[in-house]
Amino acid sequence: MKNILKKIFDFLKENKKMTAILLVFILVGGIISGLCLDYWAKTGRAPFTKPGKVCVVIDPGHGGKDVGATVDGRYEKDDNLRIALKVKECLEEKGIDVVLTRTIDIYLSLEDRCEFANSRSADLFVSLHRNSAASDVGGVEIWIGSDNDYRARSLAKTMLKGLEKAEITDDRGVKVGYIGDRSKDYYVNKHTDMTSCLVELGFITSEDDNELFDKNLDAYAQAIADAIEKHL
Ligand SMILES: [Zn+2]
Repeated sequence: MKNILKKIFDFLKENKKMTAILLVFILVGGIISGLCLDYWAKTGRAPFTKPGKVCVVIDPGHGGKDVGATVDGRYEKDDNLRIALKVKECLEEKGIDVVLTRTIDIYLSLEDRCEFANSRSADLFVSLHRNSAASDVGGVEIWIGSDNDYRARSLAKTMLKGLEKAEITDDRGVKVGYIGDRSKDYYVNKHTDMTSCLVELGFITSEDDNELFDKNLDAYAQAIADAIEKHL
């Protein structure tokens, strides 16, 4: 083995031109491999493959008997559906294949929602919700699973940036896990097979957030759709 290495070394020493070419090859190969790995990490697709038709599932949280958070007769389930229908419109304008887990006020279990997305082999799952709190807090936060999905975090960050531009009371950031127990994940983040996130579009218990939600519904939907388009 030592002999072989010595022979190679001597050969390279004598053939400087060949050594230079070899080094360039190694360098270029390294750069191309790095770029391919980066592309794969960002898109989940192997480089140089034709992307298949992508499918986005938008999940308006709650519905039917499950009204979600409420305040003065305002139901979270209705707000979630309003924004989800708008996001669908925006994505369709972009030519993106999009389906909603519900388009009307019906009850769906969390299992139903995940099964809906998994059976379609969707590429992205975005669950839309509104937050609530006993105290006077406001702002938007986005929850991702604790599996540290790079794409979920990146999607959530882009979404927050867009929503901030559209005007929100506070950017509460990208959060990992589940509000009740940070060692667990939201069911829909844990049980969907694709990149997913759960968006809390302001607090239904905050007058300011509700005012902005109603005023900026179109802009919020556009920001969410733009972020999705960027990450497909
Ligand atoms: Zn909710």
